[in-house]
Amino acid sequence: MLENKIGMIFGVANQRSIAWACADACGRHGARLAFTFQGERLQEKVEKLAAGLPDSLVVPCDVTNQAEVDAAFEAVKNKYGRLDFVVHSIAFAPREALEGEFVTTTRDAFRTALEISAFSLTQVAFAASPLMTDGGSIVTMTYYGAEKVVSNYNVMGVAKAALEASTRYLAADLGKQNIRVNAISAGPINTLSARGVKNMGSLLSYVGEKSPLKRNVTAAEVGNTALFLVSELSSGITGETIYVDCGYNIMGI
Ligand code: NAP
Repeated sequence: MLENKIGMIFGVANQRSIAWACADACGRHGARLAFTFQGERLQEKVEKLAAGLPDSLVVPCDVTNQAEVDAAFEAVKNKYGRLDFVVHSIAFAPREALEGEFVTTTRDAFRTALEISAFSLTQVAFAASPLMTDGGSIVTMTYYGAEKVVSNYNVMGVAKAALEASTRYLAADLGKQNIRVNAISAGPINTLSARGVKNMGSLLSYVGEKSPLKRNVTAAEVGNTALFLVSELSSGITGETIYVDCGYNIMGI
């Protein structure tokens, strides 16, 4: 399905990362992939995972460092000459902002969360679009806390709301280049980042009980949806937020 396609994957921290599930699904369908990692401590882990895929590339990219972002895209251009899709699967907020009341959020925590978790999508889309000479697809990861209040999610919910709005504005701008931009709203999954949100365990059990499918979603299911969104099968879809949450978002009382 993705033979001859080049993808760039942001956000692999380890094998449990949603980004890795996306890479796995796309790699199995023939894509060649470039991976970015943040900070030297993750380099070895990401390189080991990427080594299982043919003709992969691993480059550093902390999105708060514009020079690293530019260098990462330059490395992709030098190796592959172009780009077909991007999976943006990164987010961060200081731990103390992910517990207690939202009203206590500091200016610094707000700025950090919005910069890394929302602005980075625009930053990446701006850098990716000149390489998407034959059209392209950009997929980001969001969460239900963008639209409803989820205890402890706090400033990350505000960042995800900005991310979802950015998805629509970017889709409107980049559509003329046949570049599509969509968000996947994933149900809770037990990853490294998720463990930073206080009481994640109870959230997982609650959603698992209340969702129509009576379970939690898996990272592999999110990866398969990303595969759909970066492939031609979704060629008429852009600017959308697609729920992959076992149906939890449709439930009222
Ligand atoms: P994860 O494995 O911890 O991935 C998060 C990634 O973001 C990590 O690779 C992390 O790197 C990276 N990151 C943080 N700050 C960065 C920066 N300044 N520059 C570049 N990368 C940075 O957790 P995940 O659950 O798969 O999260 C992936 C995405 O899915 C996030 O946007 C998250 O909000 C979203 N999501 C998750 C869930 C869930 O329940 N797990 C549900 C809905 C949406 P470091 O480890 O080095 O910080």
